[in-house]
Amino acid sequence: MLRETLLALSASKQARDLIMATPLTREVVARFVAGESAADTVSQRLIASGRLVSIDFLGEDTTDPGQAAAVADEYVRLIDQLAVAGLAAGGRAEVSVKPTAVGLGLAEHGEKTAQENVARITAAAAAAGTTVTVDMEDHTRVEPTLRLVRELRADYPDLGCVVQSYLQRTVADCQELAVAGSRVRLCKGAYQAPDGVGFAGRADVDRSYARCMRVLLDGPGYPMLATHDPRLIAIAGVKADLAGRDPDSFEYQLLYGIRPNEQDRLAAAGARVRVYLPYGSDWYGYLVRRLAERPANLAFFLRALLSRR
Ligand SMILES: Cc1cc2nc3c(=O)[nH]c(=O)nc-3n(C[C@H](O)[C@H](O)[C@H](O)COP(=O)(O)OP(=O)(O)OC[C@H]3O[C@@H](n4cnc5c(N)ncnc54)[C@H](O)[C@@H]3O)c2cc1C
Repeated sequence: MLRETLLALSASKQARDLIMATPLTREVVARFVAGESAADTVSQRLIASGRLVSIDFLGEDTTDPGQAAAVADEYVRLIDQLAVAGLAAGGRAEVSVKPTAVGLGLAEHGEKTAQENVARITAAAAAAGTTVTVDMEDHTRVEPTLRLVRELRADYPDLGCVVQSYLQRTVADCQELAVAGSRVRLCKGAYQAPDGVGFAGRADVDRSYARCMRVLLDGPGYPMLATHDPRLIAIAGVKADLAGRDPDSFEYQLLYGIRPNEQDRLAAAGARVRVYLPYGSDWYGYLVRRLAERPANLAFFLRALLSRR
């Protein structure tokens, strides 16, 4: 119930204006977000500690083509910065892009605009020696997002995509996506879907995650297992061994600021670990999704507010 309310709040303009205007929110934001322009310095630190990064320029639901193009420009600038800092080569720092941030939700030509913008970002990434992963948003965006990835993979086969185990369709998507060279991030999903489209219970979502993970690990692609769930991380290790996978043939992915000790533990054990690192000023939707995932985060947020009164 709390999760549903918070996810509804993540789309509310009034709540957004109120929370973003509260200076005390900054303390909580800093736990999950790199800062407005600190992506390269934080990446440097994470990479020095043996982790990889995927950087997300925060923003979503762009309604203006000029803004969508500006987001793509920012990504190209970021990739140049990463290349100059020596972080892009070998994909140590890559980028994650939300389709609606680059135009997918525009009233006219949304899909075409998003595809052109992702193509521009991916071309810059390829020139710098790194990759792009296209994030997945709510269930209404799955079909156009997968279509966009399929089309761009003709030119950029290493373009990554994301599937979400809370959707009933996802195991079939995994079967289709588990092909040689295919970079696929598997996550539980941070959105809600109607009955019949998504799974209602957490146990079903977890079971679906385990099923999808097996399909991806047994296939010839490159699975990117995005979860903080200790049980699923343990199952991933066992399934990867059973599938005869080398440690560098798949990776674990975790969010910046969440379970950092586990990130270190996995990296020290020889696994490839990538940290999803958001930066920028448009952090509202991202923050509220993180609060919805864990009531303790909400308590932390409220404590930070109340302790300053
Ligand atoms: C690298 C990465 C990329 C992602 N990309 C996408 C995407 O493109 N589309 C999408 O819909 N979703 C994405 N997500 C979010 C994902 O779908 C989940 O909402 C999120 O990861 C929480 O699910 P979980 O697998 O960690 O399991 P949960 O069952 O939610 O959590 C398991 C345990 O992890 C810890 N934990 C989880 N979340 C938090 C938190 N917010 N704060 C503190 N501790 C926490 C807790 O210990 C919790 O008990 C991504 C997640 C990661 C890690």
